[in-house]
Amino acid sequence: MLSQLSIAQLEKITGGVALGQEFSGLISQISIDSRQIVQTDTTLFVALRGAKADGADYIPALVCKGIRCFLVHLDWKENPELKATFIRVADTRVALQAIAAFQRSQFEKPVVGITGSNGKTIVKEWLGQVLSHSYTIAKSPKSYNSQVGVPLSIFGIQPYHQVALLEAGVSKCGEMAALGQMIRPELGIFTNIGTAHQEGFESLGQKINEKLQLFAKSKLLIYCRDQELVREEVENRFEQDRLVSWSASPGADFSVSVKKQEGLTKIILMKSDLSTFTFQVPFTDSASIENITHVIVAALTLGQRFASIQAGLDHLKPVDMRLTLKPGLNDSLLIDDTYNNDLAGLKVALEFLSQQRPKRSKILILSDLLQQGIPEKIYSEVAQLIQSYEIDRVIGVGTEINRLGDFFPDSFENFPNTERLLQSLTPDAFQNDLILITGARSFTFERVVNRLQQRIHGTTLEINLNALTHNFNFFKKQVKPDTKMMVMVKAFAYGGGAAEIANHLQTMGADYLAVAFTDEGVSLRKQGIRLPIMVLNPVEESFDLLREFDLEPVVFSPEFFKKLGNYAQNHQIQLSIHLDLDTGMHRLGFEEKHLEELKTLIAAFPELTVASLYTHLVGADEEEHEEFSRFQLQQFSQMKSVIEAVLDYKPLVHALNSAGIVRYPEFQMDMVRLGIGLYGVEVTGSYDSALESVSTLKTTISQVKSLDPGATVGYSRKGQLPNGGKIATLAIGYADGYDRRFSQGKGYVLIHGQKAPIIGNVCMDMVMVDVSKIDVKAGDEAIIYGEQISLKDLADQIGTIPYELLTNISTRVKRVYYLD
Ligand SMILES: *Cc1c(COP(=O)(O)O)cnc(C)c1O
Repeated sequence: MLSQLSIAQLEKITGGVALGQEFSGLISQISIDSRQIVQTDTTLFVALRGAKADGADYIPALVCKGIRCFLVHLDWKENPELKATFIRVADTRVALQAIAAFQRSQFEKPVVGITGSNGKTIVKEWLGQVLSHSYTIAKSPKSYNSQVGVPLSIFGIQPYHQVALLEAGVSKCGEMAALGQMIRPELGIFTNIGTAHQEGFESLGQKINEKLQLFAKSKLLIYCRDQELVREEVENRFEQDRLVSWSASPGADFSVSVKKQEGLTKIILMKSDLSTFTFQVPFTDSASIENITHVIVAALTLGQRFASIQAGLDHLKPVDMRLTLKPGLNDSLLIDDTYNNDLAGLKVALEFLSQQRPKRSKILILSDLLQQGIPEKIYSEVAQLIQSYEIDRVIGVGTEINRLGDFFPDSFENFPNTERLLQSLTPDAFQNDLILITGARSFTFERVVNRLQQRIHGTTLEINLNALTHNFNFFKKQVKPDTKMMVMVKAFAYGGGAAEIANHLQTMGADYLAVAFTDEGVSLRKQGIRLPIMVLNPVEESFDLLREFDLEPVVFSPEFFKKLGNYAQNHQIQLSIHLDLDTGMHRLGFEEKHLEELKTLIAAFPELTVASLYTHLVGADEEEHEEFSRFQLQQFSQMKSVIEAVLDYKPLVHALNSAGIVRYPEFQMDMVRLGIGLYGVEVTGSYDSALESVSTLKTTISQVKSLDPGATVGYSRKGQLPNGGKIATLAIGYADGYDRRFSQGKGYVLIHGQKAPIIGNVCMDMVMVDVSKIDVKAGDEAIIYGEQISLKDLADQIGTIPYELLTNISTRVKRVYYLD
């Protein structure tokens, strides 16, 4: 939203001349994307010329749509048939920037400008998260930091914002001055300098100097003194009283020391007057610590209090997803790495590829690497990586990679550009393959991903694999190093997608998996999972499959023991089994009265090896059942001893589920059985903040409607809007697993971070939400649950448990996995 501008004002700001029909209205929106225009009568469409397209091509269609105002290049041919006003300027991009600079000048509150080689998006996002505890923040979306991204970010600043955080990035000399004139930050943050994007600069010093232009008018600049070159350039150019430095060594405005302990880091900052602040952050890697130190110093410089900064740090969310695993056509799996442009990133992606479950072949689609250095050296290193990761097929896109194609294996195919690659991609180009798609942004490989991915409707369940790792490690730390971890991946891994999660667990070092039914185990085996798999509820009809796929059934009754024993004898095979001892659950399992018979059966059927003995607690999550839990554990201890006494080998013994691990660590025995905790829900409530949210269920808005007072919404007229308002229809319903009990205001979703309550009844494939107070349009994203909406709260709201919400998500919802 802009301050309203007349045509005369726009002429003055851009130095342009208006032609065509007179437009007497006021402009309050700027758009450069013809698909994203909502309010036609107040929008100025800026026709930019890009590498791919000329915005001017869309003008006739936009006039039909009702747009009345355009910013065009001087050479734009007038067309009297188009009834609209055209402001002609020498360069539409420069004019767009001039409007942005004007808009920026209307904002009188602090603007923070962030640049540097790495971490700017994360620093911006995290600073936003920390400051948002005290201020309403405007910030660049994602990494909108370019010549066009910055103006769009500035147009997002509203009068009510109290601080604006803007990121600036440049790829060659001479670009930053324009960004600096638009952003004009009061406070600057220079994150660091690295070697990426070096090709546009003569030297590192030149690159630093270019970036520093952002701060030409800044009152204060925050930087880390520990990078020698940065320190030199900064301290040469800026007067001492404009600088805020931090360093691991003494002598800076903030001397920083770092103490790591068990997944946490203490960051201690000491000022020159010896006042000290100790902050705690939930990670230990050095890149994150550097980023967060910038954030802390910036927050302190902006006058934030210690407690509110720490409160912000306690709720930091991960930023920016990079590597994404997506289901592809014909059972292929895609790794989406479409924002990568250097060797370091390629290595990470190849590593991720190598961790996926086996497929027919490994394919790499790679663009030119836009990286500094000598191409011959870079591509020979790429070739080595390809060899060492055993890539079967390499598809190169770009001229450089083509020129150096000799480095690559014979199977190397090359396309001069992405367009040509797309032309060659037929729907059956790949079958059951594992495909890494990695390329610099300019190659727009997202189009390749779109072409190859399975097209399912707009609802996705995103699974954060880093969070999964974090949670797994959290539980692993609760038990002794030699206690084994069995992970329950029953019910499609609690809805998360069994094969991908099982595979991830395999690489993380889980010892055992468990599924509910034989079919689930068979499916995991067919998808290349090699870990031992316990089947909780096998049936006689599945004995052949158990044997064929090396699955280990749970045996829970004397009758079942006999059947399986006879089967093993008849086929002359040895089978591993697990004995379920019922100590109070009373669903399946041997009771105390069966023990004598069980002993006889064990002796009678030596073909069945007892791999483990276990019991299951009925109320480990609830304090009120502590006495009963302890009784169960005691009972188990007795029962297992009876069995152990007749075995001449030692089976594993185990009893604890997720809640049990937390509550009764002294009973971890040989193994624990992790379930819901892995998926980020800590049911006892004592370690809630220690776990990370793993899954985010999202959908999109299909339509937005304005309703008159008294209108009703949905089936049975259950949704009421007595005063009228605005609703959005979302592409999710109870058939996707969105519980119908959320109807009529029981549930809500988040749109642009704001709560939109459910209105009326949830339908089969859709649901309507009240967005009267939210600025939304069709296509916008709605979060059903995730980090900001706790599953536990949602479950409470409709009288169920997080388990049910997770496992109800229909398989028609696409699962996407990412590493952030
Ligand atoms: C599902 C299940 C678990 C895991 O329980 P959580 O509460 O999800 O940790 C453990 N053991 C058995 C036998 C189960 O069926």
